[in-house]
Amino acid sequence: MAKKVKVNLDACIGCGVCVSSAPDVFAFTDDGKSEVVGDVTDDAAIEDVVASCPVGAIEVED
Ligand code: SF4
Repeated sequence: MAKKVKVNLDACIGCGVCVSSAPDVFAFTDDGKSEVVGDVTDDAAIEDVVASCPVGAIEVED
């Protein structure tokens, strides 16, 4: 079963790493932060994105 992710908007600084790395899953909100817009289809890739977030704002639920 694919992982579920969510973005902690209080922590997100809008750097865009997740949006550019996984545009099917993350998109910018109107105020320049990231939100989850799609389902995770590649768990390994999402783990890399989670690790790449500079402020640890992406939370994963198994
Ligand atoms: S990588 Fe992290 S800080 Fe950057 S836009 Fe995504 S959630 Fe926000």
